[in-house]
Amino acid sequence: MKKILLDVDEVICFSGFLEAVNDFLGTNYEIDDFTEYYIDVAAVPENRMEEFAEFVNNRNLYKDANILPDAIETIEKLNKVYDIYICSSCVNSLDVIGSGRIFKDKYDFLVTKLPFLDPQKFIFTNTKNLFKADIQIDDRLSNLGGEIETKILFPSYHNREITDDELKKNGVIRAGNNWKKGWHEVEKILIKNKK
Ligand SMILES: [Mg+2]
Repeated sequence: MKKILLDVDEVICFSGFLEAVNDFLGTNYEIDDFTEYYIDVAAVPENRMEEFAEFVNNRNLYKDANILPDAIETIEKLNKVYDIYICSSCVNSLDVIGSGRIFKDKYDFLVTKLPFLDPQKFIFTNTKNLFKADIQIDDRLSNLGGEIETKILFPSYHNREITDDELKKNGVIRAGNNWKKGWHEVEKILIKNKK
């Protein structure tokens, strides 16, 4: 079976991070209002960042995570024909000491919502380029730099401006341009085109 490295945030789900930003600021931002990856840096004033870090540290961001359309169903289908490894970062660089709970909250989310995946194959790291696999699915181009045959950029609010030329240069294909249909595109690439 071919091996897939599969990202979690912005690929399987949006964590409750945006809701935390909105609750903290009293705003109604939607994810597509942003073009930068770090929505807290974009939205929260610099002099309130420390206060926000403390605010967010007390929340389980995966308790009410928003699962992307068709994610679970498609991953379940992929799991029958591919060997899936979750590969996801859990360290918030703005709160390294408090990041331990992210490992637990993300793990609990995965074993609950995707019980068909093997937890022995969960890799929690930001050093994603260290791993070899046949396929990798991630929403950040910088994570798609390893020795991977098929690199798939999952569409997201922060990667809309990456040009086709840039992707081509990096040997990356894009699963469409709309995160709401991203899993539909992944299915087309990995199941319908499978030989
Ligand atoms: Mg991600």
